[in-house]
Amino acid sequence: MKYADRINKLPPYLFAEIDRKKKAAIDRGVDIISLGVGDPDLPTPAHIVKAGQTALAKASNHQYPFGAGLLSFRQAIVSWTKKRFGVILDPASEIYSLIGSKEGLGHLPLAFVNPGEVTLVPDPAYPVYKNATLFAGGEPYFLPLKEERGFLPDLQAIPAAILARAKILFLNYPNNPVAAMAPRAFLEDVVAFARRHHLIVAYDNAYSEMYYEEPPLSFLQIPGAKDVGIEFHSLSKTFNMTGWRIGWVCGNPELIKGLAAIKDSVDSGAFQAIQEAGLAALEGAESERFVNDMRALYKRRRDLFVDAMTDAGWTMKRPSATFYVWAHTPKGLSSTETAGRLLDEVGVVCTPGVGFGPSGEGFVRFALSVEEKRMMEAVERIKKVKW
Ligand code: PLP
Repeated sequence: MKYADRINKLPPYLFAEIDRKKKAAIDRGVDIISLGVGDPDLPTPAHIVKAGQTALAKASNHQYPFGAGLLSFRQAIVSWTKKRFGVILDPASEIYSLIGSKEGLGHLPLAFVNPGEVTLVPDPAYPVYKNATLFAGGEPYFLPLKEERGFLPDLQAIPAAILARAKILFLNYPNNPVAAMAPRAFLEDVVAFARRHHLIVAYDNAYSEMYYEEPPLSFLQIPGAKDVGIEFHSLSKTFNMTGWRIGWVCGNPELIKGLAAIKDSVDSGAFQAIQEAGLAALEGAESERFVNDMRALYKRRRDLFVDAMTDAGWTMKRPSATFYVWAHTPKGLSSTETAGRLLDEVGVVCTPGVGFGPSGEGFVRFALSVEEKRMMEAVERIKKVKW
């Protein structure tokens, strides 16, 4: 088959490649423990499933959803955002429902990037920013995230010739894969920088609720942020809803209008029954309790994992947010060799850092998305590898 050039430009989709290797190992009869893909292992809370079931039975939800989404869902987003971040949103113009935040991030460059224009993409990063840029005919320019800078990009190091062509600055904190958070001073610098260089800030906050110490900020809390940016949110990780495909974008109305123009041409909105389930997730004491328990669960996993791996001689920071651990490879081995040997020798799946971008070399990412006993079994197995 002769695919379009944009397909040929894509690197093999990272998680698909890992999945393929994992399936091959399972076919060989290996008992695999996967700390690879960041997909919560526990079910969606019962009260949300129930709200979804009720909504599913309503005939009014069976038609095309179209547009920004149910007003009731957007109003729930307004209340949640006000309570959580102190940010006031206009439900009519500043919120648009998404079929998962990935969908919105993936469509954004089509609305704002012309062929030959540049997007600024963190390296390492969630692969969608780069791939979506390529689909729009744009050029991703990597901003290395270095440990010694707290995994924040050095905006001053971007060449003037790149900035002159740059349209979008993608940022993601709490970060996948490095698990870092963004301090307020950095976000203030971003607003000033974006203003100076006429950049759109696309702030991916998919992990805003998965934190263990200080709550992460919203970019929109920073004065002036709404003039330059939009923020992507997701119910996927917070409520174990990855399969439901529901999220939203909020912030600058003109930017939302652009994204909506693309979306309205390629999809017909998020299923309303799922928006109603999303509404149930955003409100009420049961949801609050659930999220607190979720944090306690991952915090416990994080401490058990980081302590045991550090005892075993690995080097890694204890993350303050996300359910990822970004670990230095042993003895400076390459990330693909490390991940390959863990899979081949002890049946443990992790993600090679280089799959998220060249600056991910020298690291592997562990997702703490398996229950405690299996996770600790993985650690016991990892200890047996002679590096
Ligand atoms: N952003 C980041 C950084 C992610 O890691 C993910 C999923 O892994 C997403 C966005 C997409 O989440 P969803 O499309 O499920 O909302």
